[in-house]
Amino acid sequence: MSFWVYILKCSDGSFYTGHTDDLEHRMAQHQAGEIAGCYTHVRRPLTLIFSQDFPTRESALESEIQIKKWSRAKKQALADQDWERLQLLARNRQAAGSDRGSILRQAQDHHEQGHGSTGSPRTDLEVPWKTRGSTGSPRTDSLSMPTEAIDEHRMRHALALAERAEREDDEIPVGAVVIDANGEVIGEGWNRNITDRDPTAHAEIVAMRQAGKAVGNHRLVGCTLYVTLEPCAMCAMAMVHARIARVVYAAADPKTGAAGSVFDLLRDPRHNHRVEVQGGLLAEKAGSRLSAYFRRKRGKPAG
Ligand SMILES: [Zn+2]
Repeated sequence: MSFWVYILKCSDGSFYTGHTDDLEHRMAQHQAGEIAGCYTHVRRPLTLIFSQDFPTRESALESEIQIKKWSRAKKQALADQDWERLQLLARNRQAAGSDRGSILRQAQDHHEQGHGSTGSPRTDLEVPWKTRGSTGSPRTDSLSMPTEAIDEHRMRHALALAERAEREDDEIPVGAVVIDANGEVIGEGWNRNITDRDPTAHAEIVAMRQAGKAVGNHRLVGCTLYVTLEPCAMCAMAMVHARIARVVYAAADPKTGAAGSVFDLLRDPRHNHRVEVQGGLLAEKAGSRLSAYFRRKRGKPAG
């Protein structure tokens, strides 16, 4: 059984990335507008510009999530099978400390072997693996989604990073994502205080550092930062310095929160830049993860 990751180009030039175990059927559904509430529904006709099969649903999902985070330029390079450009773009991202490049490796393998990543003979000939008339610069993927849906999607991304903080580094599970004005992810971070022996390595700082490198500027004008816990004073001031436009946080922090709980630094009228703040999005999910972490820590013998 194969699981497909595919990229569609919509009539307005934007991209849609999805996965399925039946590409032909899914394509027919997309073209007919049969998937209720789907982004592509009002953007038909659609062109399949990329498809790749994976041996398991998990590996397909992982790659789908990865591609969804990519810039339009990188998606286009993948669709064009321009491996050189893709590598170059991936290297730039790696320099920014993100992107593990597994889809890239798979794409390269595919390029070199002329086969699917499963190694089995490919049966996708009915589904052209080609770019068809995809010139012009596509607009952003998500601009026409309702803001609440975008916010929730981004916060789930931050929550996934928080989970990695705990799972991979045994750090306090806090995750942060920086999104630029075009809706692209330009920075990801989770708490790394213990791992990096760095008192400033809060999720927000890690994400903003990466974002600064990605845009080549210490100002993150027009960017939105999503974080699973209300920022502390250090992070709030860094956001003011960076000229972050908007901050969305999940759980409030009644002990050190600086977005209204203890201090209100983001909106302080004495600063020459004020940040729009929204709190409480998926707060329960973020809060219960934090509580579980601290419960587990307390339950463990010291040392
Ligand atoms: Zn902080």
